[in-house]
Amino acid sequence: MCGIFGYIGRGRAPEIVLEGLKRLEYRGYDSFGIAVPGNPLQVVKKQGRISDAGDCAASLSGPVAIGHTRWATHGVPSDANAHPHLDCTGTLAVVHNGIIENYSILKRELVARGHVFRSETDTEVIAHLLEEVYHGDLKCAVETILPRIKGSYALLVIARGDTRIIAARQHSPLVLGMGDGASFAASDMTPIVEHTRRVMILEDGDIASLTPDTIQISNGGNPVERKEEIIRWSVDAARKGGFPHFMIKEIFEQPDVFSDTIRTLRSEDPPSLLKEVPQVTLIACGSSYHAALVFKYLLEERCRIPARVEYASEFRYFTPPVEGLVIGITQSGETADTLMALRIAALHNCSTLAIANAVGSSVSRIADHTILMRAGPEISVAATKSFIAELAVFLHLIDMIREGACAARLDYAHRAIDEALLLDLSLAVECCLPAKDIFFVGRGAYYPIALEGALKMKEISYIHAEGYAAGEIKHGPFALLSEHTPVIAICPPGDSYGVMMSNIREMKARGTPLILLGEKDDRDLEEISDVFIPLPWASSVAGLLSATVILQLLAYHTANALKRDIDKPRNLAKSVTVE
Ligand code: GLU
Repeated sequence: MCGIFGYIGRGRAPEIVLEGLKRLEYRGYDSFGIAVPGNPLQVVKKQGRISDAGDCAASLSGPVAIGHTRWATHGVPSDANAHPHLDCTGTLAVVHNGIIENYSILKRELVARGHVFRSETDTEVIAHLLEEVYHGDLKCAVETILPRIKGSYALLVIARGDTRIIAARQHSPLVLGMGDGASFAASDMTPIVEHTRRVMILEDGDIASLTPDTIQISNGGNPVERKEEIIRWSVDAARKGGFPHFMIKEIFEQPDVFSDTIRTLRSEDPPSLLKEVPQVTLIACGSSYHAALVFKYLLEERCRIPARVEYASEFRYFTPPVEGLVIGITQSGETADTLMALRIAALHNCSTLAIANAVGSSVSRIADHTILMRAGPEISVAATKSFIAELAVFLHLIDMIREGACAARLDYAHRAIDEALLLDLSLAVECCLPAKDIFFVGRGAYYPIALEGALKMKEISYIHAEGYAAGEIKHGPFALLSEHTPVIAICPPGDSYGVMMSNIREMKARGTPLILLGEKDDRDLEEISDVFIPLPWASSVAGLLSATVILQLLAYHTANALKRDIDKPRNLAKSVTVE
């Protein structure tokens, strides 16, 4: 994955592209580069973060530029491997998001024909393939070479002396923007929204030719029209709005995200597929997998509908017997494994439903139906508000199946998030800071909340954290418990309260520091804890949401105290568009 952005207009293109790339940095941040098609064609590219680029675009000028912020798949992060990539003659420049699967065969053939490669990337083959067929018509050259490329791409191409940008897409996202005397092409809408709200989303196989005033699109050699959409997100939604990090800003947006998602779904009347199905299979990765597990517990317990949850990356290669409804959950709508798993489910004649955050994302083209959550752009790599939005979608679906039985609880649930945001977690943070390992435990629907809490903690604080179903901790992990290994246990009222208390006492007997989340007036729990965190408890829904938010905040404040790079944790990227 990576971010690409192109501008053609009457403004200072290199500066505009540099600023736009900063909005896309969450998609990749190991290197960056910009090219302008003057005579000669000029390129600036460097290893490092676009946010540290300074005035690196100062040496470039002109009304056309393409740029890239990279998350390496082929070749280490380095100046040479940074995009844009050029052909041998320096006539053409390419930026690319995706993977060229047959690049090694193509590269061997190109080298045999005398081409000299300057990088280890798969992308560079595109520049050399274009070199062989480019005779002044850039669009025609792109159309000629694309059938030879296998894999995924969103591409922007420019050529020396040419006054167009050519854009193409196959299995990687690409959005075009239509401004006043300017056109834009980008991996998503965040760099476009400050210039124009009019956008078009390209389909697989589309090739577009951009000038300042026109955009022409073709597919399979035939002209096509794509629907114009209007972006309704505010420009501010893509900025930090005064918070020190996007992650904490996004955590604080969650009461609104929850209510907006519920309200919009109520007004949209989403497909009632779940009512008739014999079983549901949920497919997801990462945080979406944990949200799906919460749904499984609730669907089985409250609606008596059998459900199972599969990792998309496993499902696609080890497909179990599957029937009924398959639901793919992906914040970006571009998660490669989830897209492929849904394609496989369709081949097995299952109905498919996608739950995604991005309008017009790839998953909505694959699934029979799509439900959009309303999280808005999530910039921080660690998912927070998209997780809450996924829970909102699932709680709404359960409410639909139960014909409005939980509607009142959902109306007030955002207040539990508000209350959780006010809690002082400093004692719990102090307890976590010296730890090398932390265990998070819960039962029932709180088990996936514990998994998600552990994921947040490890991904942004780099403290090793594991989530466990509380009953499982005796089957092995107990060996690791000590006075240096905090356990964070969620222990709400309910059927499993008694057995959770027994588990907690067993851990206490090993000297383990206990951070316990429970009902406000639970004196027993408070007494046994080292740190007690009261859950704003108005209903079980409120309990789930507030426990989620508390664990997000705990991870955030711990990582902040450790001075971690919270929005861009090492080795991670936001939207996992490769397997
Ligand atoms: N495969 C290209 C590279 O490694 C693009 C990477 C991406 O899209 O993440 O440079």
